[in-house]
Order: sequence, then C-alpha cells, then structure tokens
Amino acid sequence: MAFESLNRDNVVDFLADIFARRGGESYMGEPVSMSEHMLQSAALAEKAGAPDSLIAASLLHDIGHYTSEFPEESLEQGQDNYHETAGADVLTAFFPKSVHEPIKLHVAAKRYLCATNPEYFNRLSPASVNSLNVQGGPMSDEEVADFETHEYYRDALRLRVWDDEGKFAGAQTRSFDDYRPLLTGLLVATER
Ligand code: FE
Repeated sequence: MAFESLNRDNVVDFLADIFARRGGESYMGEPVSMSEHMLQSAALAEKAGAPDSLIAASLLHDIGHYTSEFPEESLEQGQDNYHETAGADVLTAFFPKSVHEPIKLHVAAKRYLCATNPEYFNRLSPASVNSLNVQGGPMSDEEVADFETHEYYRDALRLRVWDDEGKFAGAQTRSFDDYRPLLTGLLVATER
C-alpha cells in the first residue's frame, strides 16, 4: 500500500501498515520486536485503566522510529534521532494533544524520572541506560521544573513506565487491528 499523502481517512491504515511491515524489527537491544513492544505498552495502559488517548499514545509512542530519515540503529550508535518528536509531528495533524504530547515527552520523561526517582534508574534495562546517555542523561533541577510546566507531563510519566515495562519476550497481546476503533474514535477534524 502506498501512502503519497496522509489524511483522516487513511492515517489509521498508514499506521497499521507500519506495524505490519516494520513491526517485526528488533526494539534496540531488547528481547521484543517493535510491534510487540508497542502493543505491550498499550496493554499495560489498558490494564491501568488509562483513558483512550493515553492507550493510543502508548500504542504509537515509538512510531517516530519509522518517520525519521535516520536509520533506527542510529540511537544504538550514539546519535539521538529524536524519534519522540518525529512521531508526534506525524500524529499532530490527526490526533488530539492528549495523544501526541505524551509521545513527544516520553524520552524527556525518562530523563525526568532518572533525576527524581533513584529506584527508577535502577530498574532500567542495559539498553535503556545506554540510550539515556545519548539522550542527555538525568535532567537538571531547572529541566525538572520546566518539564512540570507541560500540560501532559503526568501522562508522559505514566506512558514512560509502560514503555519501560513493555519488554516481555513472548507475551500475548491484542493485535494492532483491535485498536482501530479506539484510534478512529480519537481522530480530530482536519483540513487535509
Ligand atoms: Fe518504547
């Protein structure tokens, strides 16, 4: 399926297509594939009783790895590809802030939690510790205070924890298609 332009009618198909074609790729140094990881994150959000917008954010939080022009291995190689921004940018036109803002903040949320919660750092996987250094390390006090001014920072922190936990090899989850009604229900009116 070719997507020359994205619109409200095809964006969910576009996302499904990415999951289908690219989801089998490995999640940088973790024992799960990218689609398994994002589906597990969404499942954890559902289990926690999160609103639909935050379930959608969890499901789509790493989609930016596929919209960036940088190869996905670039993070492992020590260059931050800003996948959280790339992902949020694509979603901005189609989903409300409650979906794309937590995605945009999910890497900063890790830096925030490392600065504010010593136990959090100790639970990070080796791959996640490695990428933390590339991403700028724990936040400074000023950065922590600034992070807390974002409207959706608490949602970003919740998403972050599910992101960190969604790495179980072989765990059963629902499929992307199961989330189509939820995603479609969140689409915002768009001119495109
Ligand atoms: Fe992730």
